[in-house]
Amino acid sequence: MLTGKTALVTGSTSGIGLGIARALAHEGANIIVNGMGDLSEIDQICDDMGRDSGCKVHYSPADMTDPAQIRAMIAKAQEKFGSLDILVNNVGIQYVCAIEDYPEEKWDAIIAINLSAAFHATKAVFGGMKQKKWGRIINIASAHGLVASPFKSAYVAAKHGLVGLTKVTALEGGVCGITCNAICPGYTWTPLVESQIADTAKARGIPKERVVQEVMLSEHAVKEFVTIDQLSELTLFLCGDHARSMTGTTLSVDGGWTAH
Ligand code: NAD
Repeated sequence: MLTGKTALVTGSTSGIGLGIARALAHEGANIIVNGMGDLSEIDQICDDMGRDSGCKVHYSPADMTDPAQIRAMIAKAQEKFGSLDILVNNVGIQYVCAIEDYPEEKWDAIIAINLSAAFHATKAVFGGMKQKKWGRIINIASAHGLVASPFKSAYVAAKHGLVGLTKVTALEGGVCGITCNAICPGYTWTPLVESQIADTAKARGIPKERVVQEVMLSEHAVKEFVTIDQLSELTLFLCGDHARSMTGTTLSVDGGWTAH
C-alpha cells in the first residue's frame, strides 16, 4: 500500500512508535526511525525492520527538544529518499506530580517534546507534502488530549495543545492533499506507562500494586490495556486512500474511557 512513500515516526525506538514504524515498513514505506536508547540495540531494530520488510530504514538520533535537529533530520530524509510523505508525531514523555511540586524543567521538557516537536516537524514537512499534493500527518495524542487526570498538568496541557494543532494542520492542508488526524489512545502497555507506576502510587498515596486496576484501567470500560497493534492498524488506515476525507479529527482508542 505504501511502496514508494517515506515515513518519519518520531520516538520510534520503543513502544507505540516502534510498532507503527514496523507496520508502515511492512506496507512498503521507507522509514526514518528516531529516538533514544542503546545504539547497538537501535542498529539491530533497524536491521530487523529492513530485512523483514525489504524497505530502507534510516536512523536519526535527533533530539526532539531541539528545533534545529528536527529540521536537519527532515532535510536529510528528504534528500536521501526524495520526499517525506508520512509524518507520525509520536514522541512523548510523562511526569506525574502535583501542581505545587511540579518541577518547572519537567513542564518545559514535556511541552517541548509532546507539543512543540510536532509543530517543528509539521512545519518542516509541509512544503514538500504541498508540492507533491499528498501527505499524511498523524499525531499520537492521548485520551489526555480530550479529558484530564490529576497530577499530569504538563502532559494534559501538551496533549490538548496537540489536538488543537491537529485541527489547524488539517485546515491548512486540506486544499493540497494533506490530511492530519490525532489518535487518542487510552493506557497502552509500554515503557512510558510502566515507568509512571511508582510516581502515580506516590502522588495518590496508594501501593504500586493498586495503580493498574484502580487508576489506569479504572476509566476503561474494556478492562484491558490498548495494544500497540491496534494503534498501528489505525495508523495504516489513516495513511490509505479510504481515509482521504478524514481530517482534523480525533480517533479514540481508549477502551471507552472518554465515553464517561
Ligand atoms: P515510550 O517511552 O515507549 O517511547 C517514547 C519514545 O520517544 C522512545 O523511542 C524514546 O527514545 C523517544 N524519546 C523520548 N524523548 C526523546 C527526545 N528528546 N528526542 C527523541 N526521542 C525521544 O512511550 P510510548 O508509551 O510508546 O508513547 C508514545 C506516544 O504515545 C507518546 O506521545 C505518548 O504520550 C503517547 N501515548 C501513550 C500512551 C500509553 O499508555 N503508553 C497512551 C496515550 C498516548
